[in-house]
Amino acid sequence: MIRLRDYEPLLNELSVPGRRGYYLPECDVPGKAEDYLPSEALRKEDAPLPELSEVDVVRHFSRLSDLNYCIETGIYPLGSCTMKYNPKINEYAASLPEFANLHPMVPVSAAQGALELMYKLQKYLAEITGMDAVTLQPAAGAHGEYTGLAIIAAYHRSRGDHDRVEVLVPDSAHGTNPASAAVAGLKVIEIPSDSRGLVDLEGLKAALGPRTAALMLTNPNTLGLFESDIVEIARLVHEAGGLLYYDGANLNGTMGVCRPGDMGFDVVHLNLHKTFSTPHGGGGPGSGPVGVKKHLEPFLPVPVVALSESGEYYLDYDRPQSIGRVRTFYGNFGVCVKAYAYIRRLGPEGLKRVCEYAVLHANYIWARLREHYRFRYDRICKHECVAMPTKEMMDNDVHTKDIAKRLMDYGYHAPTIYFPLIVPEALMIEPTETETLQELDGFCDALIAIKKEALENPQVVKDAPHNTPVRRLDDVAAAKNPILNWRKLGNL
Ligand SMILES: *Cc1c(COP(=O)(O)O)cnc(C)c1O
Repeated sequence: MIRLRDYEPLLNELSVPGRRGYYLPECDVPGKAEDYLPSEALRKEDAPLPELSEVDVVRHFSRLSDLNYCIETGIYPLGSCTMKYNPKINEYAASLPEFANLHPMVPVSAAQGALELMYKLQKYLAEITGMDAVTLQPAAGAHGEYTGLAIIAAYHRSRGDHDRVEVLVPDSAHGTNPASAAVAGLKVIEIPSDSRGLVDLEGLKAALGPRTAALMLTNPNTLGLFESDIVEIARLVHEAGGLLYYDGANLNGTMGVCRPGDMGFDVVHLNLHKTFSTPHGGGGPGSGPVGVKKHLEPFLPVPVVALSESGEYYLDYDRPQSIGRVRTFYGNFGVCVKAYAYIRRLGPEGLKRVCEYAVLHANYIWARLREHYRFRYDRICKHECVAMPTKEMMDNDVHTKDIAKRLMDYGYHAPTIYFPLIVPEALMIEPTETETLQELDGFCDALIAIKKEALENPQVVKDAPHNTPVRRLDDVAAAKNPILNWRKLGNL
């Protein structure tokens, strides 16, 4: 099926002189503007705004939103980043005025319900990850990584272990891992993957030593493969005096089935905006809670949400070893409400089923595609699988980027591409738990059809997309020089 899209005019192209949507009431402040404002602050001419009716504006933005591919219109199979469908009831919960309108400066006595929710969410996340204590403060995954590493650094310093400044990061890791370590003032040492796509134990042993602060690991890793040596890895790192950091941004591959805490990890961060029911991709708000084992609890950011013996929730600032605040107020509270609602709705059995279906769906895709695409690690995976174009496709000069663009013509969002870096031409597919068999099949059928085109008529793939309002964009320029103003756009 090909979903056609139309050209949408710009707002200034729709503008008709004199057309109005709203009129302001007569000003009831006595006197003139000049009586109140200095002359340089007064407007000399009318603002050059497009002139439109309410209907024009509503239709324009509704049509624009229709042009946008989103999880509400189809599968969004971004590996690593879990673009799952999030139940709308959780948005309702977060928008309840008692939550949404609560001012962060109210006294704790007037915020007992919100604090109770945060306290319980901390407990649930600790239970899910096998940790002893959790902070909800960090605002994103990378922010959680920074917080967790700052906690690890503070721990080593508190023991007089000042030389422990090296963080070991596998070459399959998400790019934020080395970046966060660098921001936390630590030195990044890359660890190689072996032929299984897992941490190379010999490479790890060679890198471990008295300078090791931590090993950062994603498990299952970004190839969707479970680090089966994790118990041995944890032993080696701990014996060398280092700590283990778990990148739990995407918990779909383990949630409810196994826990980082039981694998030997000391610190974990979660992305509530991936696994726990906050949509993401538009730049926030997100939430990257950090869980720690008992020995790291004193270093958590202040304040910590706590429960007094008399049953009152309060904000505990009395924590002398804390790394301090990492964010204003207490984190993105609305995101916490959604995660709380999600966890309560699913319960332990439901969370486990999320994981089981996420894994089943990824393996279904792998099983359907493995005759048509290449898989560097061609075996059962967890929640995501990483495909590559075949040699014949590449011989016809059809690359991963072309496949991703052609998928749009078929009405599907592309998977994550060119990541993880250790797989050349990677198509990293994560279907998530909520897709139906029909949607999974449609997506696989599209990829198989594109393979056929690549062999028989490669130009049609190389020229894709054909059916979108704009064709191939300069994505680097789009990210670095976004044009956010309608007038500038109109002058292009
Ligand atoms: C998304 C992701 C991150 C970073 O999370 P942000 O909220 O984007 O900062 C880190 N690690 C992994 C594995 C991820 O998928």
